[in-house]
Amino acid sequence: HSKLPAGSYRSTCCYCGVGCGIIVNRDRQGNISVEGDKDHPVNRGMLCSKGMNLHYTVMDTSDRLLYPEMRYHRHMPRQRVSWDQALDRAAAAFRQIIEKYGPESVAFYASGQCLTEEYYVVNKLIKGFIGSNNIDTNSRLCMSSAVAAYKLALGEDSVPGNYDDIELTDCIFVAGANPAWCHPILWRRVEAAKKANPSLKIIVSDPRVTQSCALADLHLQVMPGTDIVLHHAIGRLLIEQGHTDHTFIQQHTEGFERYRETVMQRSIASAAAICDIPESSIREAAALIGKSRRFMTLWTMGLNQSVVGVNKNLSLINLHLITGHIGKPGSGPFSLTGQPNAMGGREVGGLANLLPAHRVLDNPAHRKEVQEFWGGVPLSEKPGLTATEMFEALEDGRLKAIWIMCTNPLVSLPDARKAEAALAKAKLVIVQEISSKPETLRYADIILPAAAWTEKEGTMTNAERRITHLQKVNDAPGEALPDAEIICRFAKKMGFHGFDYNTPAEIYEEHCRLTTGTRIDISGLDYNILQQKRSVQWPFPEGTENAGTPRLFTDHRFYTPSAKAIIHSFEDGNKSVPPDPLHPLILTTGRIRDQWHTMSKTGKVSKLKQHIPAPLLEIHPLDAAARGIRADDIVEIFNGNGQVRVKAQLSTSIKKGVVFLPMHWGKILNNDLNRANNLTHTLVDKISKQPDLKFAAVEVQPY
Ligand code: SF4
Repeated sequence: HSKLPAGSYRSTCCYCGVGCGIIVNRDRQGNISVEGDKDHPVNRGMLCSKGMNLHYTVMDTSDRLLYPEMRYHRHMPRQRVSWDQALDRAAAAFRQIIEKYGPESVAFYASGQCLTEEYYVVNKLIKGFIGSNNIDTNSRLCMSSAVAAYKLALGEDSVPGNYDDIELTDCIFVAGANPAWCHPILWRRVEAAKKANPSLKIIVSDPRVTQSCALADLHLQVMPGTDIVLHHAIGRLLIEQGHTDHTFIQQHTEGFERYRETVMQRSIASAAAICDIPESSIREAAALIGKSRRFMTLWTMGLNQSVVGVNKNLSLINLHLITGHIGKPGSGPFSLTGQPNAMGGREVGGLANLLPAHRVLDNPAHRKEVQEFWGGVPLSEKPGLTATEMFEALEDGRLKAIWIMCTNPLVSLPDARKAEAALAKAKLVIVQEISSKPETLRYADIILPAAAWTEKEGTMTNAERRITHLQKVNDAPGEALPDAEIICRFAKKMGFHGFDYNTPAEIYEEHCRLTTGTRIDISGLDYNILQQKRSVQWPFPEGTENAGTPRLFTDHRFYTPSAKAIIHSFEDGNKSVPPDPLHPLILTTGRIRDQWHTMSKTGKVSKLKQHIPAPLLEIHPLDAAARGIRADDIVEIFNGNGQVRVKAQLSTSIKKGVVFLPMHWGKILNNDLNRANNLTHTLVDKISKQPDLKFAAVEVQPY
């Protein structure tokens, strides 16, 4: 029986990066219900279909992993073991592999759904004590292009504004995103803002006519991969029509002249032809932006998941820098995080190229500060393996052991069959997971059952730099443990000191201390203050009286060496594998409204299956007719990477020449033909290492 009393507990939704506050009610029998937190500044009591049904994912424990399991050989069945047996074996295997092949032969692959405290301890373990930087997370597939672009343009991975800008702005440009489905509560706020102020202009660019387009004054139905061309063309028109802010450009930016020359090289007619949209609609977009006194952009995977993702991001941020629409109420570039705690992970440095508090590996002073703080081994300068690189390294034998936490790479990674083959080659696979469903488990040599949302305490940071504390509501089933506790127990089995935390609060306090003096300083924060203030926005240095920092760069001094923002220039081409006569269609992938990632939680809720119960290929009727495909026919989508077989949904909402598959489905029994990532490529952006998940040349035929 739980020692926790019945009552109401405060938490945060564990799905998207909007970060809605949730009240979780638990009665004496242990039954759980959820409601939106009316006092939370993000959602003001609202929840979307996924958030509203979260209690079902907690109450239904039928799929939960309850005990550690282990096997000594891939061909043997796994058997239930004690925590000590599982972690002794994990530690012995790690020690043996590290001794023989070095610290870079092991890796941790974690998740943007981990709590900040969990990220902190696993990052400390591998970088500070094992002596390798091989930790990456599925945030690499999500946010890394936006992170790199913010750093290049503004000098720091910092979202300048906040959600309240939605109610203050005159014009919102949603670039390659469908927040009506993927960030629904944020979109409810956009809808309410438009209702209250009908002159608020909304522009959406997307190859599909999505639910978000219903609210738009202008939809730019561009071809996939042409975003830079579009943004450059808008930039050219803003310059030509005198809508730039000369004082801001002169005093607070670098690189404008080169940018001007770059965007002048392509005519608007040529840009319109490449984007496959009317020239007049580019002119209309530029006029709407140019005439606005306040201007914000919202974007997410449509720009980020690209082989030129960083440049796509920079080309959009440039529109803010040439118009001076940044660091002011109602204005700013705002990247929406896909996952609930991608930002918290970066705060503790939980990626292959980062150190805690946004410090960087190639700065010797940063490495020294962190090593002295942790008291472990000297930190390596060499960047660790990123998400796709880890699986390449498993494939070619450089990596021997991988520890996967809270993510299902066999559905979410590009070219998933290749990832599966790589995992089969690993000497040791450890999977730390809540559910018995994820496809990745079949390759696990050791399974470690983890506590789920509401069964542990910790913090998360949403897309607007807002940190919220999640209370523990109920006990985990069986012997499942919080992820941070599993990692700390393992670290102690490895003989490392510095992992003797009694509570998650102690981990958080250590993390806060390590941010002191950095640009994301939260040294004034601990669990008591967080509970008192409900949520705060970083930075929050010691002595902060209010709820943190809602807006950055209000003095127009940026974090670059010159304190000026950098306007970057680059060519506008895409570098994806282009369509060819055998594969003439462009496949793009994405989320649907009621499912989350690889469905290990949302797939359990029957209400959420009603919206779209099975994967469908969205295809334009003209493309279908040219191939003899009728509505509901089973079709095969194929390219050199693999095939997918699903029903066709004929729709004029998708651009001719483009097809769409949802990304959620994986293997059903032994059949992987629902899995969209059979078809995607492992090509990555050269700076962010984010894969090109939104663009794959394919052909479709009746099956
Ligand atoms: Fe959860 Fe996102 Fe829905 Fe809010 S909008 S309830 S954070 S899934």
